[in-house]
Amino acid sequence: MELYKNQQLQIYNSLSKKKETFTPIHDGSIGMYVCGPTVYNNVHLGNCRTFLSFDLVFRYLKHLGYKVRYVRNITDAGHLENDADSGEDRIAKKARIEEIEPMEVVQRYTIDFHNTMAKFNALPPSIEPTATGHIIEQIGIIEEILKNGFAYERNGSVYFDVLKFNETHHYGKLSGRNLEDMIAHTRELDGQSDKKNPQDFALWKKAEPQHIMRWPSPWSDGFPGWHLECTAMSTKYLGEQFDIHGGGMDLKFPHHECEIAQSEAFCNTNPVNYWMHANMLTLNGQKMAKSTGNNILPNEIFSGENTVLAKPFSPTVTKFFMYQAHYRSILDFSSDALEAAEKGYNRLMEAVNQLDKLPTGNETSMDIATWKQSCYDAMNDDFNSPILIAQLFEAAKFINSVKDNKASVTKEDLNTLKTTLHAFIFDVLGLQEETTDNQNTGKLSGTVELLIKLRNEARANKDFATSDKIRDELAAIGIQLKDAKEGTTFSL
Ligand code: AMP
Ligand code: ZN
Repeated sequence: MELYKNQQLQIYNSLSKKKETFTPIHDGSIGMYVCGPTVYNNVHLGNCRTFLSFDLVFRYLKHLGYKVRYVRNITDAGHLENDADSGEDRIAKKARIEEIEPMEVVQRYTIDFHNTMAKFNALPPSIEPTATGHIIEQIGIIEEILKNGFAYERNGSVYFDVLKFNETHHYGKLSGRNLEDMIAHTRELDGQSDKKNPQDFALWKKAEPQHIMRWPSPWSDGFPGWHLECTAMSTKYLGEQFDIHGGGMDLKFPHHECEIAQSEAFCNTNPVNYWMHANMLTLNGQKMAKSTGNNILPNEIFSGENTVLAKPFSPTVTKFFMYQAHYRSILDFSSDALEAAEKGYNRLMEAVNQLDKLPTGNETSMDIATWKQSCYDAMNDDFNSPILIAQLFEAAKFINSVKDNKASVTKEDLNTLKTTLHAFIFDVLGLQEETTDNQNTGKLSGTVELLIKLRNEARANKDFATSDKIRDELAAIGIQLKDAKEGTTFSL
C-alpha cells in the first residue's frame, strides 16, 4: 500500500493563509508547477534555495508513493527588466551587451542552471517547457481573454483590464493587496503608456523596431507578457485546475496574482488548489538578487573563490545548510552557518556509516517506531525539514550510544533504523554521501597551489631546473599547469 494512505500531509496554502490537509484532485496523482529561472545570468544561491525547496517537496511526494507530474518552465522571453512591463527584455539586453544571439544567452544559462541543479543532486522536473516554445498557446489564451471582455488592444499591444476583471472577480486575493489601495498609491499614467490604468498588465507587447525577440500575432509583431507563459504552460501540461503551484515569495505579486487573474479570465477556473511560496535567502541581511549584485554563486562556494567564506563548501553541505531552515523562513547566508552545517552533516554521516558495524542485542533502548513516525510527522507538517533533521540527529545520538555499549538495538529495529535513515537522508533530502574524493579535492588544490608558488619563486630566481621539474613531475602524475597572463592555473 502506498505510504500516502497512512500519512496526513498538511501544506501551508498561501491563498488561504493557513495549513490545509492535502487532497489531490486525482487520487494518487499530483500536478505541480514551479516557476523556473529567467535564463539571462548564472543562477545564484538564492534562486537555488527556492528550486531546492521544491525539490524537497517533489521528492517527499514521490516518497509517499504519489505519481507526480512536475512542470518547471524556463523563462526565455518576455521577462522585462522592470516587473511592471517596462524596460528591455532581460535576455535581449544581455545579448545586446555581449553581442551574441538571445538564444545563445538562453543556451548558456540553461546549461549553467542544469549543471548547478545536478551538483545539488536535484531531480529534473518531468517537463521543462520554454516560453518561446509556447507562443501559439499564449496567443490562443489572449484571444479567449479578449473574447471574454477582460482585455483590450491598444496600438498592437494587448493589456489585461484589471479594473474590469475586479468587478466580477477578486484581483489581489493571493497577495492580500487591495485594488483601491493600489490605485491610491500609484502615479497617474504619463500619457506615454497605452494602458487604460496603471494596474493593467501586458498580455502581448508590440515590439519596438530594435526589439529582436519577436513573433507574429493577430495584433502585431511582438512578444508575450511575462505572466502569460506560466498560465499557458501549466494549463497545457497540468490542466485548467491542478494541485500545487510554487515559486519564491517575491513572485506572489504581481506574477502569481496575474496568473490567477489570467486563468479566471480565460476559463473561469481558479487554477491552483495549493499555492506554495518559498522564502528568501539573504546575504548580509539583504535579499540575494542578481540585480543588486548582493549574491553568491554556487560555484564560488564549491571552489572557495569568494570573499564571504573562509574555505570551500561542498554542494551537499550547502544544501544541508539550507534545509536546516524551514522553506517559509528567511535564511541568512554566512560562513559560520556553513561551518556549523558542515560539522552537523559530518556527524550525521559518521553515524550512518556506523550502522553496518553496530552490535545487535535482545532489546532496543529507543522506540524506533515512534521515532520513525516523528520523521514523517515533521515532513507531513508542511515539509518541516529542520524538525526532520533534528530527528535524524536523535537517531545519530542513539547510534553512537549503541556503538559505545550504552544502549542496545535488536536486529529488526536496526534494520528499520537503517532503511528509514537512508530513505530520509538520501531519497527525501537528496543528500549525497561525500566521497573521500570530494573531501580530498580541497586538500589537493591547496597542495598544487603551493607547488605553483614554489615554481614561481624558482623561476623568479632563474632556477629553471627546479621550476621545470615541478611542472614535468606534476604532468607525469596527470596534473597540467597552464601559464597565462593572470597567473598559473591547473587542470587534472
Ligand atoms: P528569476 O530567475 O529571477 O525568475 O528567479 C527564479 C526563482 O528564484 C524565483 O522563484 C524567485 O522567487 C527565486 N529567488 C530569487 N531570489 C531569491 C532569493 N534571494 N532567495 C530565494 N529565492 C529567490
Ligand atoms: Zn511563473
